[in-house]
Amino acid sequence: MNTEQIKRDTEECVLHTYNRFPIAIDRGEGVRVWDTDGKEYLDFMAGIAVYALGYHYPGYDEALISQLKKTIHTSNLYYHEPLAKAAKALCRSAGLSKAFFTNSGAEAIEGAVKAARKYAFSKGRPGGEIIAMHSSFHGRTAGALSVTGNEHYQEAFRPLLGGVRFAAFNDYESVVSQVTDRTCAILLETVQGEGGIYPAEPEFLRKISELCREKDILLILDEIQCGMGRTGKMWAFQHYGIQPDILTCAKALGCGIPVGAFVLNEKTAEYSLAAGDHGSTYGGNPLACAAAACVFEIFDRDDISEKAAEAGAYLAEKLDGLAARHSCITAHRGLGLMRGLELDESAGAGAAAALALKKGLLIITAGSNVLRFVPPLIVSRDDIDQAVAILDEVLDEI
Ligand SMILES: *Cc1c(COP(=O)(O)O)cnc(C)c1O
Repeated sequence: MNTEQIKRDTEECVLHTYNRFPIAIDRGEGVRVWDTDGKEYLDFMAGIAVYALGYHYPGYDEALISQLKKTIHTSNLYYHEPLAKAAKALCRSAGLSKAFFTNSGAEAIEGAVKAARKYAFSKGRPGGEIIAMHSSFHGRTAGALSVTGNEHYQEAFRPLLGGVRFAAFNDYESVVSQVTDRTCAILLETVQGEGGIYPAEPEFLRKISELCREKDILLILDEIQCGMGRTGKMWAFQHYGIQPDILTCAKALGCGIPVGAFVLNEKTAEYSLAAGDHGSTYGGNPLACAAAACVFEIFDRDDISEKAAEAGAYLAEKLDGLAARHSCITAHRGLGLMRGLELDESAGAGAAAALALKKGLLIITAGSNVLRFVPPLIVSRDDIDQAVAILDEVLDEI
């Protein structure tokens, strides 16, 4: 199929819920992809923070192919080795006890909400309320949408899940004002992603963590985007010296293969979901778990999080330079290799991303008018220099 035909058939038969960039991606290698016309791009969006190891990292394809040749599905009615390996690596990496694997991030959130409610129910507090944050993003399924603090996403789909209250991110008093006798969990992204790249302030997160401990409220951290080494540590909460009761992850967990998970600490696991309370036909299948297990092995062996921390510091320095040269940049925020440049109204982030594409750089936006940087964690200084040089031109021209 040629590019025009691919675009035409897609628009004809695929529900138009996405405004796509006008290229068709054919293949990737390292931190670069090629479109169906053979044009090369430097990839600073990594399939929306999915390709943490870039394309075809040594050992990754081999692990998947070897699993493919054995079995890719067993159902959850049997044991299998990839599940045991992936769960052990995931729990160890986060200092948590029990994992449940899902097929996506939204499903991990669904499971976390159910686990929190069951925990409160078991402790004699039914009807558990969840406090979530404004400008958050937790996914598009009905439950995940219910805890996503974005009026535009929610509006057409009411009534949503009840018992959800919203507070302002990084505003402790606002969270406290939403706590009631029925509060079972506080849910937040350690670094807000889609909302515009806002890291939690250390004081805010520390106080929330104390509040949760004091009132037996569960702290749910959504690290679907900011986890898996993205911020320079395996999990973003590890920068803050706190522990969640429930952690959600997905995106880079499989580095391309769809897999998510919610992970519980011991006390939560003890009082929450038991046999028969939750399930998924595909969730935790051998192929997905082989991917996750292999990703953890590679992260460990090749110090991927440390590499992300170094590359993140270099990128931060370069973006500060860009902000000093271009007055249309109004803010630069982020942690590690998860960064955002906020532009003023004269320069649209969407237009900047479209122009960058023409110049061979894949980059996406977040929140209102923010250019989002979530490249593969293996990005080199030369790659960063190249991306920044392209953006220098883009910001001169828009
Ligand atoms: C992407 C994302 C989700 C949803 O994940 P899906 O796999 O798209 O369902 C949830 N939370 C955060 C923080 C995300 O970035």
